[in-house]
Amino acid sequence: MNRDTMIQKLQSHEGIWDILIIGGGATGLGIAVDSAARGYKTLLLEQHDFAKGTSSRSTKLVHGGVRYLQQGDISLVLEALKERGLMIQNAPHLVSNQAFVIPNYSWWDGPFYQLGLKIYDFMSGDLGIGSSKRLSVKETIRHIPTIDQKELAGGVIYFDGQFDDARMAISLAKTAAHSDGVLLNYMKVEKIMKNKEGIIEGVVALDLETQEKYQVQSKVVINATGVFADAVKKMDDPSTKEMIQPSQGTHIVLDASFLPNKYAIMVPHTKDGRVLFAVPWHNKVVVGTTDTVIDKPLLEPHFQLEEVEFILETASQYLTKKPTKKDILSVFSGLRPLAKPEGDKQSTKEISRHHKVMISSSGLITVIGGKWTTYRKMAEDTVDNAILIGGLQGSKCTTHNLPIFGYDKNLNLTEDPLAVYGIEKQALLDLEAEDPMYGSIISESLPLKASQIIWAVRQEMARTLEDMLARRVRGLFLDVNESLRIAPRVAYIMANELKKSPDWIKNQLTEFRATAEHYQLVLD
Ligand SMILES: Cc1cc2nc3c(=O)[nH]c(=O)nc-3n(C[C@H](O)[C@H](O)[C@H](O)COP(=O)(O)OP(=O)(O)OC[C@H]3O[C@@H](n4cnc5c(N)ncnc54)[C@H](O)[C@@H]3O)c2cc1C
Repeated sequence: MNRDTMIQKLQSHEGIWDILIIGGGATGLGIAVDSAARGYKTLLLEQHDFAKGTSSRSTKLVHGGVRYLQQGDISLVLEALKERGLMIQNAPHLVSNQAFVIPNYSWWDGPFYQLGLKIYDFMSGDLGIGSSKRLSVKETIRHIPTIDQKELAGGVIYFDGQFDDARMAISLAKTAAHSDGVLLNYMKVEKIMKNKEGIIEGVVALDLETQEKYQVQSKVVINATGVFADAVKKMDDPSTKEMIQPSQGTHIVLDASFLPNKYAIMVPHTKDGRVLFAVPWHNKVVVGTTDTVIDKPLLEPHFQLEEVEFILETASQYLTKKPTKKDILSVFSGLRPLAKPEGDKQSTKEISRHHKVMISSSGLITVIGGKWTTYRKMAEDTVDNAILIGGLQGSKCTTHNLPIFGYDKNLNLTEDPLAVYGIEKQALLDLEAEDPMYGSIISESLPLKASQIIWAVRQEMARTLEDMLARRVRGLFLDVNESLRIAPRVAYIMANELKKSPDWIKNQLTEFRATAEHYQLVLD
């Protein structure tokens, strides 16, 4: 997958596209996969990098959502459990089975959560990934040696999926490209074009690398811009009512020693009534999340100090090794594209996580809500609507059993840092054999080799230092200071590949350092 080739395909395309998607997060990329796999001429335009928005900032869970079960939202849990099963089936190189322990501190918690989780297991049907069971105090401690043992009454173990969200996004882009979809990052949609009858017939997009403008015609235009959906809806109809309520969720990242046995912890009820997860991820631990209503959607949201303090305080209640600000390797925040409540008094956590597909009078299709786990179903529903709106020749959805690009079920995701490349892992090893420079280690702790940088430039459309260190490899999310340390070397390797000047390196480093501030907790 190469950006120059994609630009050529856009320029040489004759006729009208069938489906044009605005937004390259989980939702847009899922739609591109579905649409291209059904044989439609598909174009996706992303204003920044793929998964720059919420889709690289999730808790990294492929889950039915135990908490939605608590809230009684059976249909959402059923749908998500089915999709969880399909994601594991179709992308075994990206999604792994993760065991979670709910520690119990009262005798009543054990039977209560066990019953709930048995229902959760049952609802997974044939796509179940493991049976939940009660744990004695001794077993709970064996699984989580760092668990606070004071008044511990036992635990319940259950299973859900876990993944690398930004890597999944790249694999979805490659899946769509494999079916002749054209996908472009750094291509911002600025305007919606309409015919004399007021029906949408395409968009005007700006290539942010060259400042060249494109007028692109399409039978259907889909707004898959997450928290930015209102801005695109306003391009269609300036008088449209805002419908998105952004809600920020922050995570902190800690060293693996806080959770040494690779079992995750799930706290079903925090002080503010939320669920808190501590999940092993790329040899570190991700802890979160929060729910903070935000006024305005931002592409690079910044954590609030209170959110970090709340996570530290809650995690400290459950761990013997109490995390402090000094232990934080990285902090990241993402915005939930929740639907605005109808009444004023409803809080964001009560707003439905179900996705919504909406069609405006001019034919703009907008899809909002949902979760990473349900991206495939969201895409199926959206493309089914697009067929009707665009008068496209009917074609059935094929993504239930469609392997995600790189499909390989023989890789060990928890032990092998190159497993996320799937079948392409061999190509990276071949690169290393070709030139010993490519095999050199850039970071021991992340870990990162030069071959991954070369590969991401050549095959994964990484254009900037941030694309590389935030989303192709996850350094910025895993350890911000280590990422800043290696940034000059990574920028140098990228510049060589992209044939860029020393000035480019300088600018990239300046921009990257500014972005890194959003992931860095400055200690007093
Ligand atoms: C804190 C948090 C934790 C979460 N954890 C989980 C989890 O563990 N599991 C799970 O299943 N779900 C989780 N979710 C939900 C999931 O991450 C989101 O539902 C999903 O990522 C939303 O994807 P999206 O594509 O709709 O939005 P985004 O990822 O935000 O993508 C929208 C894209 O549109 C682009 N865009 C905007 N305007 C334009 C324009 N004019 N032209 C071109 N492009 C444009 C943006 O740059 C952006 O990349 C979590 C969400 C949050 C906030």
